[in-house]
Amino acid sequence: MTVSGPTVSEMLAEARRRFTEAGIADPQTDARLLISGLLKLSPTEMLTAGRQSVSGEQAGSIGRAIERRLKHEPVHRILGEREFYGLPLLLSAGTLEPRPDTEILVDTIIPYLRDLAKTESNVHILDVGTGTGAICLALLNECPEASGIGSDISIDALETARSNAERNGLQDRFTTIRSNWLENIRGTFHAIVSNPPYIASKTIHDLAPEVTKFDPAAALDGGSDGLDAYKAIAKDAARFVRPNGVVGLEIGYDQRNDVTAIFEAEGFKCLKSVRDYGQNDRVLVFSPA
Ligand code: GLN
Repeated sequence: MTVSGPTVSEMLAEARRRFTEAGIADPQTDARLLISGLLKLSPTEMLTAGRQSVSGEQAGSIGRAIERRLKHEPVHRILGEREFYGLPLLLSAGTLEPRPDTEILVDTIIPYLRDLAKTESNVHILDVGTGTGAICLALLNECPEASGIGSDISIDALETARSNAERNGLQDRFTTIRSNWLENIRGTFHAIVSNPPYIASKTIHDLAPEVTKFDPAAALDGGSDGLDAYKAIAKDAARFVRPNGVVGLEIGYDQRNDVTAIFEAEGFKCLKSVRDYGQNDRVLVFSPA
């Protein structure tokens, strides 16, 4: 007698049930993403794969992945990758998982780069604290005339960013540099972009365990008031941004006034403030005044 393994539907139902029992916020979505990711099935293939059996090996890896999710590891960390602005990106221990809100920074900066590309021969971008490379790589992918540097203090992050550049065919226009904020940076840029750590140290423990246990602390912790990274970037940014360039930043929901004041004190002017999908202030754009 041949014993066939469980079907995709049965595995989905099992994952959904266990996630629901554990109080995971969106059990249905997580079950589907996890299983489709592990089985390498597209969303459309998932719709028709319900009655297919999975192998014993696949059932084992799904089982282990369910256990990891129950310990609060986010789905995309378990899968080791996620999509950002249409690009598949590897994640690693030293990189923040890119969030959909950060795509708003990319959306906001693209028009400036396209405008600059009309008159400038090499539009040059610096992504400070690049992590997976998400922001810079998305901008390079959208602006074929641009080149960029991703800086980070984490060697692990720089390796991941380089792999992501290669994976997306952007390695010829992307380089990395190890730097604490702008300390080791040379040259000038049309756009300096960053999603720096901006959570006040004392409030980090209020975040979901998915974040506190799995995103690197160095990518979250913005010091006592959450503003350390903005102060460090603002202090030096004027030396590195071109006169016609911009500085584009992701910010915490309550940091618009503080970050604006920090950059104004260094001679910048706020050009634009953009809200996220939850109607929170999320992105600021500055220009040299
Ligand atoms: N947006 C992230 C969060 O709240 C924080 C990222 C950051 O500090 N840059 O989970």
